[in-house]
Amino acid sequence: MQNKLALVTDFDGTISDDDFFDLIVNKYLTPDALEPWHLYLQGKMTHIEALGRVFAQIRIPEKELLAFIDRIPVDGAFFDTARYCKERKIPFYICSAGCDYYIKRILGDALEKYDICLVTNHGEYSPADGLKLIPPRNSPFYDKDVGISKAGVVRFLQERGYKTVLCGDGPPDVAPARIADAVFAKKFLLKKCREANIITQPFNTFGDVLNYLKEI
Ligand SMILES: [Mg+2]
Repeated sequence: MQNKLALVTDFDGTISDDDFFDLIVNKYLTPDALEPWHLYLQGKMTHIEALGRVFAQIRIPEKELLAFIDRIPVDGAFFDTARYCKERKIPFYICSAGCDYYIKRILGDALEKYDICLVTNHGEYSPADGLKLIPPRNSPFYDKDVGISKAGVVRFLQERGYKTVLCGDGPPDVAPARIADAVFAKKFLLKKCREANIITQPFNTFGDVLNYLKEI
């Protein structure tokens, strides 16, 4: 299995400690700003539409937003894992239902340095219009509900002979967890996998994932 492994990971709450969504809502938005999100939870709005409408309500100078993003903590072992994957030529995909605006800012040059493939929505910020989400309509992984399909990425790799290891924590990670060859889960995803009898391994940090990759 060793030569044909691929790693597919979520970003928010998996690489970062907490979701950008939760952090921004708690710090800068009022409860009524969450109305689109409630509509999503009731199945009346798509994930990307709801997320975009919530993010569009951010009204702070960009400098303040960037400083806020810079303080979001990241799992330190993530970088060790990315380095290991590059050394072992294990394809490394970050798939996020969020957007590149904050992911690129947080990960900096690590994306290029470790040949990480980032599959996510594009994000543009202005204090007048907030954070706008633009889904990658021309991507082979485009999905109209989330913007990108994490399951599509897993399938793409499997069709090319890779055993895929998925890491995640939230609702958009359930569909790829159903088809991935190994699943590392925390929080909501862990609970869902257990309910759905999806074989999964709880994890606290990417150190657990790195140990697994080294052992198999
Ligand atoms: Mg997440």
